[in-house]
Amino acid sequence: MAVVIREIVGFRQDEAGDWIADLACLHRQHIRHQPPFSERPWVLDPAARAARIGTGWDCPLCDRAELPEGLHLVRTAGPFDDVTLPPGLRATHHVAAARWGRLRLLDGAVGFSMDTDPPIVRHMVAGDEQPIPPEVPHRLTVDGPVRLVVEFFARDD
Ligand SMILES: [Zn+2]
Repeated sequence: MAVVIREIVGFRQDEAGDWIADLACLHRQHIRHQPPFSERPWVLDPAARAARIGTGWDCPLCDRAELPEGLHLVRTAGPFDDVTLPPGLRATHHVAAARWGRLRLLDGAVGFSMDTDPPIVRHMVAGDEQPIPPEVPHRLTVDGPVRLVVEFFARDD
């Protein structure tokens, strides 16, 4: 299992002038050149920044399944119960690129596992929520009556 690597899709500056990488997963990560703690002189050079667009960057925020800030709800699937739950959600599947999912368990209990590093494996009960990053394989184990929804989020820009 590898750390989740995401494509850098662009750069922006914060109010202080520090550089932020926009990642394909919708996370935004500060990339600072602060020697001797963080040696990244390339981030100050426009050509070197441009050359990094399209390359990969570790995203520990995806490994921790932290829902990025500033997303909006685009669709809610369900509610499903243990009879109406689409078989595709029980099998290994993933959320589309540039979309986040959030599983919300309304009733019952399910097993959830996801191929982050380390893998997220949990027993969810009514009231639990689990954010799901784009394109990371995961699966549900349903063993009894449940009611759940899956919400999908995206960013406007
Ligand atoms: Zn990410």
